[in-house]
Amino acid sequence: MVVVDAGHGGHDGGAVSHGVIEKKLSLDIAKRLKQALEKAGVRVVMTRQDDSYLTLDERAAFTSRYKADAFVSVHLNTDGEGSDAEGIETYFAATTPLSARQLVSAEALSKKESPSASAEFAGVVQRLVCSTTKAGNRGTKARDYAVVARAVCPAVLVECGFITSASESVLIKQAEYRERLADGIARGVVLFLQGQPAKSPIVAAVAGAGDSAAVRP
Ligand SMILES: [Zn+2]
Repeated sequence: MVVVDAGHGGHDGGAVSHGVIEKKLSLDIAKRLKQALEKAGVRVVMTRQDDSYLTLDERAAFTSRYKADAFVSVHLNTDGEGSDAEGIETYFAATTPLSARQLVSAEALSKKESPSASAEFAGVVQRLVCSTTKAGNRGTKARDYAVVARAVCPAVLVECGFITSASESVLIKQAEYRERLADGIARGVVLFLQGQPAKSPIVAAVAGAGDSAAVRP
């Protein structure tokens, strides 16, 4: 089970630049990510499927409620207006703050293993999303954003490109590019899950499963 979180929502629009409203396209990418993961046989729960607002704790709480194997939060990046910063970066939490320990059981927290699992997860996702999109690779970064720090499983936050960039915002507005972003993240998630001890069934070996894995009875 993977929890997919579309950043922002409701009164929290996230960043706005070049005609892009972050909350709308983060949801679009998150929905595409859900589809790509399900096609690969991975079960998915989304924190939001419409323009609703959830607190960061509510988002992170999905990971304990569903005993998630992994958590992915989808965002779009910004820099100052006129900045030419572009590319993709993936964040993971270096520590699990006390607030998370109070929110969940010790058993749930132990599933988080060590921060190194999230670091490894971030590395795989970053590598695959960059190779799939050919976007600039800004690397992985440890930062204790609440939404990933409070998740009780390996958790990453993917900044899928800069909407403040004149050129990258053009790409991000294209559905085909957002599909590639989602596909790249999904490949990273699947690769990471394949390297982890199975906690929940990942349907029939994803490798080489092709379309057959997508067929539902
Ligand atoms: Zn954001």
